[in-house]
Amino acid sequence: MVAFRHVFKVYRVADTGVVALGGVDLEIDRGEFLAVVGPSGSGKSTILNLIGGLDTATAGEVEVDGVDLARLSDEELTRYRRDAVGFVWQGTARNLVPYLTLRENVRLPQAAGGQATWTGKRTDELLETVGLADRARHRPSQLSGGEQQRAAIAVALSNLPSVLLADEPTAELDSASAERVLAAFRDANREFRLTVVMVTHDLVAAGKADRVLRLRDGRLIHEGRPIERMDEEGRVRLPDQAVEALWGADLEAEVEGGEVRVRQRSERRPGRG
Ligand code: ADP
Ligand code: MG
Repeated sequence: MVAFRHVFKVYRVADTGVVALGGVDLEIDRGEFLAVVGPSGSGKSTILNLIGGLDTATAGEVEVDGVDLARLSDEELTRYRRDAVGFVWQGTARNLVPYLTLRENVRLPQAAGGQATWTGKRTDELLETVGLADRARHRPSQLSGGEQQRAAIAVALSNLPSVLLADEPTAELDSASAERVLAAFRDANREFRLTVVMVTHDLVAAGKADRVLRLRDGRLIHEGRPIERMDEEGRVRLPDQAVEALWGADLEAEVEGGEVRVRQRSERRPGRG
């Protein structure tokens, strides 16, 4: 449903170029819930902006639903952003209109998209999906941060987008609120068979996704399923590729700065002994 083919994004700053993405290839299936993780500045938001049509690739192809976004006219791109994608941003202020009630916030994109056939019932169903049916007449300032983020999901779903993009949606929340926001993403993903791409710093949040994409310096460094917790005998399931590569070897593992380093049991450690 989303395909990146050797995508580069270079920002021109003064007379040098900042490489935000350095040749990214990826495929996202319809209905997939994907997490994108990586250090600050690694290109996570750039990936969302490209999928959302807010920015264009410097080289390579970004294809959504079989359409190469670079081929769209300005008008088509505006329609694409309005109808095909929903956004949930980190800062709640960017997601909701402060002087409108939740119900009005959810109806706003429908009005803009000319979806006259939409009924109030539908709006209430969306608020139901994110667990805010009883808050329909509240204004954003009358809600907690977590409730505002769930409201933002309802607004983003309002135009029935095919892909929901979220940039650090739980970053400003306590863990209980974050949990409920993540559950709302999952419900939306299941209920509407919606493709969700969520950028996050939070490894717990990433663990809720079907798949985690890891970025460093504008490149994909690892693509795999989240590792489930250890079983009683201390075993974890590794991706098939890792199992093939490591098969039969006598290894020990060490956790080093967010990565696991595997070495032959007999190998001498550099710089010691
Ligand atoms: P992340 O979301 O992972 O923190 P970004 O995708 O926002 O990273 O940015 C990737 C790199 O591109 C960073 O080095 C950032 O400074 C740079 N960058 C992002 N947006 C711009 C811009 N509009 N102009 C110049 N450089 C940018
Ligand atoms: Mg970012």
